[in-house]
Amino acid sequence: MRISLGKSGRAGVLCILLGLCSAYTVEGAFVTEYVSGIMWAEPKVIDPGQAGGPPSDAIVLFDGKDMSQWNGGDKWKIEEGQAIADGGSITTKENFGDCQVHLEFATPSEVKGDGQGRGNSGIYFMGTYEVQILDSFDNKTYFDGQCAAIYKQFPPLVNACRKPGEWQTYDIVFSAPKFDEAGKVTKPAYLTVLQNGVLVQNHSELLGGTFYDKAPAYGKHADRLPIQLQFHGNPIRYRNIWLREIPPQVLQAPK
Ligand code: MG
Repeated sequence: MRISLGKSGRAGVLCILLGLCSAYTVEGAFVTEYVSGIMWAEPKVIDPGQAGGPPSDAIVLFDGKDMSQWNGGDKWKIEEGQAIADGGSITTKENFGDCQVHLEFATPSEVKGDGQGRGNSGIYFMGTYEVQILDSFDNKTYFDGQCAAIYKQFPPLVNACRKPGEWQTYDIVFSAPKFDEAGKVTKPAYLTVLQNGVLVQNHSELLGGTFYDKAPAYGKHADRLPIQLQFHGNPIRYRNIWLREIPPQVLQAPK
C-alpha cells in the first residue's frame, strides 16, 4: 500500500529525521517546537508534606514543642502545642535573606482593647520589614496598620481576617533588598502575602523599613538577618511556623 504524504507531512518526516521536535497544532498546522537553549539545572525533588505542614526542605521554626530556634523564646508560654507571645519580642537564632514563611496565628478570643491595642503582633523580616498581625475583625484602625498591612506603607488588598480566637494562616514570600558599597538601594525589598489563602499583598515594593515614629526609609544592612516575632502586649498564639530559603535561580547561557 502506498501512503501519500502531503507537503506538511513530508516536512514532518524531515524534521523527525533531523532530530527536531515538531507537532501539529489543534488547528492542524504543522509547527516546530520552540526550545530556549538555556541549560537549566534540574529542579530538586522535595516532599511537599501534608497541607500546611513543612515541606521536606523547610527549616521548622516551631513545631509545637519548644521555641529553641528563637532568641527570647523561653519567655513565651507553650500550651497545647501553641506558643503564646509574652515578655518580649523574639528573633530567630539563624539569619535569613530571601525566604518563604508559613505561620499560623490566633488573636485572643476574649476581645480586649481596640485599634492597634487589640491582638497586635507582627512578623519582621530582617528585623526591619513588618507584616502586621492584628485583630482586624470588626476593629477599625488606620488601613496601612491593619492586619496584613506592610506597616505604615501598604494596606492589604482585602481584609481576609477570621474572627478573634480562630486560627489564621500567613504564607509570605520575602525578597530581601540589596545595597551597593555606598549604601544606595540597588534592589528594593518585596513582599507577597496570602492570608488564609487569600492574596493580600501582591509583590509589594517596600519603601524601606517599617517604623512607628518615622517615614519608611532604607538603611544598608547585611544580606542575611534574623526574623522577629513581635510582642506588643497581647497574648497572640502561634503554631506551625516554618521557612524555606529561596535560592537564586541559576541558569547557563544558551549553548
Ligand atoms: Mg505589630
